[in-house]
Amino acid sequence: MRLKEKVAIVTGAANGIGAEISRTFAREGCHVVLADLAADKAKTLAAEITAESGVKAIAVGCDVAQKEELQCVVDACVAEFGTVDILVNNAGITLPACPVEDITPERWKKVLDIDLMGTIYGTQCVIPVMKARKSGKIINMASVAGQVGGVFTEATYPVSKAGVICWAKAVAKQVGEYNITCNCIAPGTILTAMTETLGSADASLNVPLHRLGSVKDVAGAALFLASDESDFITGATINVNGGMSMI
Ligand code: NAD
Repeated sequence: MRLKEKVAIVTGAANGIGAEISRTFAREGCHVVLADLAADKAKTLAAEITAESGVKAIAVGCDVAQKEELQCVVDACVAEFGTVDILVNNAGITLPACPVEDITPERWKKVLDIDLMGTIYGTQCVIPVMKARKSGKIINMASVAGQVGGVFTEATYPVSKAGVICWAKAVAKQVGEYNITCNCIAPGTILTAMTETLGSADASLNVPLHRLGSVKDVAGAALFLASDESDFITGATINVNGGMSMI
């Protein structure tokens, strides 16, 4: 088992990529805190994971746009398991495409608050715990959109995700001396609820591997970044996009 007796917090864990990362970590022996706005769904999944994997999974309702709610998640994790080894800042949203000149301040705020500030707040809340124990793994869910200026969505999304990639580098530089790593995963188009509505049916034509990604493809990269195998990797972004960003 690659994460035996470790403890992870996964945000946006009730659905899609976050749910698969939570299941994958649990199968590798990791206790998991599922933090999501969809608290009931997270609770049901936590019960399933506990029953299936023999580790303990708990759910905590949380809006990542509110720093104090993320602090409550970290506090709940420490109260239940005594520590936090791994944080996956995964919660995110997109809005439908909109001409750049028409994006309202409200739309900017909505996406930046969740996709960028949610990642920043989660990281800030967990660092004191990780610093005290001189170890930790922080994994941020970025996107190919943040590298190429967007794929299907309005500009709020790629701008947020570019910020997430830069934030990971800034954090990695500051906390490396505490043996804390901070990395990103940049998925291409992954089949989840998020992409169902984006009109991406022909998207695989632009992918050298000629298919869209699965949640398992992303969870595999997250497991690597959470495990000891990635101990000397920090400030990095792993592309999980079938080669899409070469185009
Ligand atoms: P999803 O919509 O299937 O799941 C997102 C989860 O985040 C949901 O459970 C939702 O309830 C939760 N969430 C939304 N807002 C929240 C908030 N304010 N606080 C707490 N939880 C909140 O999405 P997904 O496709 O699994 O995406 C997960 C992450 O991967 C996101 O950050 C997304 O930007 C990123 N990503 C996805 C794709 C893709 O193609 N699906 C590609 C690149 C990056």
